[in-house]
Amino acid sequence: MGAKSGDVFEIINPATGETIGTVPKGGRDDAEDALKEAAKAFEHWSTTPVAERASVIQKGIALIDERREEISRLLTLEQGRPIKETKGEVNGFINTFVYYVEEARRITGDVVPSGSPWKRDLVIKEPIGVVAAIVPWNMPLNLAAFKVAPALAVGCTVVLKPASETPLSTLKTAECFEEAGLPPGVLNVVTGPGSTIGEELVRNPISQKIAFTGELTTGKRIMELASQGIKRITLELGGNSPLIVLKDANIDMAVEGGVWQAFRNMGQVCVSINRIYVEEAIADTFIEKFVERTKRLRIGDPMDPETDIGSMMNEQGLRKVVEHIEDAVGKGAKILCGGKRIDEGEFKRGFFFEPTVLIDVDHNMKIMREETFGPVAPIMRVGDLDEAIKLANDTIYGLAAYIFTNDLKTAIYAAEHLKAGRIGINDVNPSAMQAPFGGYKQSGIGREKGHYGLEEYLEIKHIGINIGSAISKF
Ligand code: NAD
Repeated sequence: MGAKSGDVFEIINPATGETIGTVPKGGRDDAEDALKEAAKAFEHWSTTPVAERASVIQKGIALIDERREEISRLLTLEQGRPIKETKGEVNGFINTFVYYVEEARRITGDVVPSGSPWKRDLVIKEPIGVVAAIVPWNMPLNLAAFKVAPALAVGCTVVLKPASETPLSTLKTAECFEEAGLPPGVLNVVTGPGSTIGEELVRNPISQKIAFTGELTTGKRIMELASQGIKRITLELGGNSPLIVLKDANIDMAVEGGVWQAFRNMGQVCVSINRIYVEEAIADTFIEKFVERTKRLRIGDPMDPETDIGSMMNEQGLRKVVEHIEDAVGKGAKILCGGKRIDEGEFKRGFFFEPTVLIDVDHNMKIMREETFGPVAPIMRVGDLDEAIKLANDTIYGLAAYIFTNDLKTAIYAAEHLKAGRIGINDVNPSAMQAPFGGYKQSGIGREKGHYGLEEYLEIKHIGINIGSAISKF
């Protein structure tokens, strides 16, 4: 449906600068209308039996599965991200819904001991109500699924706001749910600026729960607005994730994993490896192999299945990368590979940047303390594990941390001392649908995924029953 104003905005392929579509530019009133629709739909959706809800969601997922090729192409077109990665994202989207329609059948309550022989006490869980889900551009479908799937499965209704850069894939999946028979108003997608419709979704008294992924500064604003209505919130914010490589590690595995998690999606992932700490004894070997592997990454047309590195999302993100590299080099860092924008020939109109490796870095540099959100891997030598842990924790963020070691005691010690919500031991992709995902410190509040993610959409209610014949007062 169009915006009330009739306004639209263009969606641009960041790799080519071409317009690939237009979508409604919604305003505050469009956001409010969507919330009203969601509130109306909540009345019947929340009381629909869980198996019936699952059945209609599964039909939508089957359609998305049939159209997975088209949807991953749309993701690549609107995001500049290599097609081999966006195929994985559509897969992740489907798996999240499959998991949550099953998990919702396992919601249980309690019968707890009562304080009196004449009373019985039940604890039940109920869907919170209307959910406002607001997501960024870097993994538009996965991050939407972590919110929409548990919300719909437990009986909440949703107004989903994709980022202005990447609404097309989201709209396509919503179309599939509609075609599958999801009742009107259960899932509503609104498109337009965060500063207007995003704020309205958070501020409006109809939304009972805000589920947000995005930048720290936006998260702070959302927390402030949500506090006016004492709303339940889940915030998944930025990261500045360290990789520690110790002298007893399998260096080849650490290199392969480190390069992958530093540069996939051009480093624009909240759990990207942003800083690497290598024990002095193996530093030369690690750095040499890391640079050699980085140079073999293939930069190219994001639609080409062989491409590893596509276009960054926008000029602003690319400028931040340049700023962080210049700041580091100005303070003594050396560039071992990359370091430049690629803007010749086929790359002329996109935001392509060479995967970059820096050494001689320290914690006075922005690159070691702030989220760069781009294809840069700074490597710092450390004397031992305790020094590495101290430096790894020297950040306001706490989303993920990775360590490579073959010593079990060391691995457990590190995992227990690193302040992050996700720890990978000899693993740069410790992602499991069943396991919780979320941040320590300023990386966020609450958890997504697993049964932890389901609880975020449930209220807990105590029902006290008097089976005696007198009123109990004390
Ligand atoms: P962003 O915060 O600019 O935008 C995210 C969403 O919020 C968009 O839909 C945007 O329109 C909306 N928005 C913007 N201002 C708003 C406001 N005032 N009120 C309500 N909504 C508003 O983030 P981005 O640039 O799209 O994404 C990149 C950021 O997301 C990075 O910092 C990254 O680390 C973070 N991120 C975090 C996770 C995680 O799980 N922790 C995952 C992916 C991305």
